[in-house]
Amino acid sequence: MNRTRAFLSVAAALAIAWAAFPCQLSSAESAPGGWSRSPGKRILYFTKSSGFEHSVVKRPASGDLSHSEKVLTDLGRQHGFAVTCTKDGRIFSSPDLASFDVFVFYTSGMLTEPGTDKQPPMTPDGKQALLDAIRRGKGFVGVHAANDSFHVQPDPSDKSSRFKAYGDKVDPFIAMLGGEFIRHGPQQVATMRVADPRFPGLDGVPERFDSLDEWYTFKDFAPDLHVILVQETRGMKGIDYQRAPFPATWARRHGQGRVFYTSMGHREDVWTHPRFQRILLGGLGWAAGNVDADVPATIDTVTPGHREIQPETEPKP
Ligand SMILES: [Zn+2]
Repeated sequence: MNRTRAFLSVAAALAIAWAAFPCQLSSAESAPGGWSRSPGKRILYFTKSSGFEHSVVKRPASGDLSHSEKVLTDLGRQHGFAVTCTKDGRIFSSPDLASFDVFVFYTSGMLTEPGTDKQPPMTPDGKQALLDAIRRGKGFVGVHAANDSFHVQPDPSDKSSRFKAYGDKVDPFIAMLGGEFIRHGPQQVATMRVADPRFPGLDGVPERFDSLDEWYTFKDFAPDLHVILVQETRGMKGIDYQRAPFPATWARRHGQGRVFYTSMGHREDVWTHPRFQRILLGGLGWAAGNVDADVPATIDTVTPGHREIQPETEPKP
């Protein structure tokens, strides 16, 4: 709590400074996400791992924040939003839920079960309260493993159920997020293509850029996805990328709420890369309602092959 209050006071101090020196706004105004116009928004960063626990969300034994928690907290300090970090799923069934503007998830597995990290799970009612809150107007930002959560059950360890499309039978959390993780291949340099250069945070990002990361594949995309970045699959190593290009960063409306997702963010050095931070800040700012953007459904025109699912195993020679 002290941490949160400290950030708010920094934001308040900055607001006073800006009021006193209104001609010195240039650097703050160029920051993506509209934070200079709407400081003080509250973000909940939820990193419970009921399945695989990523290194960027694993807290050291000292109890200090994880790498990605530190990065997001620092971004909040720089841009005037308050970040509360938790792995305790009980927060979604507490009155605190209403106090947040945006929920950021970097999670895995069935979050209603203790799972790998043994942190307290969400209750079923808490999960429903989250989905209801988004539908009524809260923001949601999923990063990387967020949609490695709430797979269609059963989800056996051989992942065989991942290679089928379930359409409207997907979990309501996945329906809100707009796509479900299937599997990933080896880490490699791959190309992202910008499909909407006008989306907040995308100005100044090259039309195509390469990045070293662990690249997720997806299925059961929501039909109303607004595609922001496309995964270019040609030339990628591994069977998982033997499919047409597909959405990798997107936005959609969920009732009154705003939902943003990016597949990037497995690696520590991605989290500290200015381009990733810029795209994340843009998504956060849009989800928080600081800035507006049109997000019409573009999935069928931008990525017409998005329904293709990669083969589960290498074909026999
Ligand atoms: Zn990963």
